[in-house]
Amino acid sequence: MTDREVARARLLLGRLIDLEETTFGYFMDIAPDERADRVSLRLADLFTARPDLDRVMLRLGGRDVGVSTPVRVRQAAGLAGAEPELGMADRSSLPGMSQQYRLVRYSCTHTGCTLADVRSFFDPRTVPTCPVSAHGPMELRR
Ligand SMILES: [Zn+2]
Repeated sequence: MTDREVARARLLLGRLIDLEETTFGYFMDIAPDERADRVSLRLADLFTARPDLDRVMLRLGGRDVGVSTPVRVRQAAGLAGAEPELGMADRSSLPGMSQQYRLVRYSCTHTGCTLADVRSFFDPRTVPTCPVSAHGPMELRR
């Protein structure tokens, strides 16, 4: 795993990583081409299954990418500002909330590129761009 691949993963997974966190109690291995939205779902599953975990190091080919926290994962899922003690399930079961927090997915249009981004809202002014600079803006996935 090269420095460049680790740096790319760090960029792609930036919303899930808290760079100020250096301690952790668990590792989660990710694949080089794993999409950020999938990593986010796996982390959400892990933090739900293991409420005792509050910091997980994401690892790519044995290299440390960064420490993820339940707060980061909730924010990435569009629940920024939610009070943890209210519980995600309580909130998401409120009528009308599912549309508001529906994730908006983008993918790179460059042939052969599998990079993707996920947003918690749609804003045509801030379309994500592929971290590979020559690839340009991503396309909304339907
Ligand atoms: Zn791309």
